[in-house]
Amino acid sequence: MNANVKKAVVVGAGISGASICFALKKRNIQTILLDAESGPAQHASGNPIGVVYPFLTKHKLAESEFSLAAFQYFLSIWEDFHLKSLVPHADGIYFLMDTDTAYDRYSNAIKSHQIPDNVASEKIEPFSSLPAIFFPNGKSVSPVDLTKQILTISNPETKYSCKLHSWEETENEEKVICQTSDGEIQCDYLFLSQGYQFANDPHSNWLPLQKVRGQILKFPEKKPTNTHGILYGDYITSAIDGYQVLGATFDEYKLEENPRPEESILLWQKLTKMLPNLSEPWGPQNPSLFPTRVSYRTQSQDRHPVVGKLPNMSKLDLSVKYQNVLRNGKKQMDIPYYKSVGILNGLGSRGLTHALFAAEILVSEMIEDQKITTESISKSLKPDRFLLRMWKREQLT
Ligand SMILES: Cc1cc2nc3c(=O)[nH]c(=O)nc-3n(C[C@H](O)[C@H](O)[C@H](O)COP(=O)(O)OP(=O)(O)OC[C@H]3O[C@@H](n4cnc5c(N)ncnc54)[C@H](O)[C@@H]3O)c2cc1C
Repeated sequence: MNANVKKAVVVGAGISGASICFALKKRNIQTILLDAESGPAQHASGNPIGVVYPFLTKHKLAESEFSLAAFQYFLSIWEDFHLKSLVPHADGIYFLMDTDTAYDRYSNAIKSHQIPDNVASEKIEPFSSLPAIFFPNGKSVSPVDLTKQILTISNPETKYSCKLHSWEETENEEKVICQTSDGEIQCDYLFLSQGYQFANDPHSNWLPLQKVRGQILKFPEKKPTNTHGILYGDYITSAIDGYQVLGATFDEYKLEENPRPEESILLWQKLTKMLPNLSEPWGPQNPSLFPTRVSYRTQSQDRHPVVGKLPNMSKLDLSVKYQNVLRNGKKQMDIPYYKSVGILNGLGSRGLTHALFAAEILVSEMIEDQKITTESISKSLKPDRFLLRMWKREQLT
């Protein structure tokens, strides 16, 4: 093998890991993808259908600018790599503005972000007759097939049923040594995208990320059917391969893996309340009989993804107090990093929309090639933001 070719290890074969492999492939970096499971997309990225659309705020913020840019980037990859013919999907997402607050926020978001009509516009959703934001290129899509197709394009060497146990940088910081259930692997770059299992890694378990339980229902396509996905707090997807999905519950506290029949009933009751014209013609249903899947989001404290070089907590100078630094008129904190280790996590409820762009930002930062986004977006995503907050609150000792 050519000694100049750099080697990367990516941990986690969900949508994040697949997206990192894709960004590495663009830069000709030899890549090994590890996952503890026997194949890709078996945790959060394993739901039968999810929705792709951007998160918007009333005024322009780094969070909404990132989300909109990520949505546009997703669509450009979707086009350029012909994912339309490879990934089961249905186009079109309605986001209902069913309260005055929602109307104020989303109708103004369109104006403040100067979003053109071909990306999003105000439109009445036909089943509810409520005002909505319509994303004509938003999608109901199979996350599993999306992840698999991104991996097919990226073509990394894969090691499934292979768990990363531990890792460390060499003293000269030139290499990373990974200990896995399959033996030792040396690499030039390590990318961590373990979802909620980040907590097992002592190098990243300081991050304020949280495991959040979500339950969805899969049911046979109903007639009449909604040809577009509809969001109303929960969501109902369009049918793909004869099935629709109703999701998703959100529980930060009780995390058991067993499905809860009462949650399925509540999801269905909310659907029938919000969209009676759609669901009444279907007649009475027993939602507790529909197949259910429980999985876990990884959500950060500020609900924004965590993307960037990983700070090295063992080298952090804890003797420097924020108050002292302020007194000396110097507000910067020197953050030591692992030179070759990056993290992509905290995708929360929007991993499908955000992963590809987040991975592109991460890899361009790690490889130190040209910046692909604004300073304010990349800064807003960095894991450092939590460190700075913890330092200011003296939570680091
Ligand atoms: C119920 C529910 C509904 C959702 N609906 C939507 C939606 O409609 N639209 C949307 O955009 N997003 C949705 N999301 C969010 C989206 O699914 C996630 O943001 C995304 O799948 C996260 O992907 P990931 O690759 O970061 O994590 P995961 O898919 O969880 O992948 C992490 C991988 O890391 C592996 N791993 C962990 N530790 C190790 C180790 N030590 N060694 C080797 N491998 C390891 C795991 O086996 C796993 O495969 C939903 C999430 C949930 C839970």
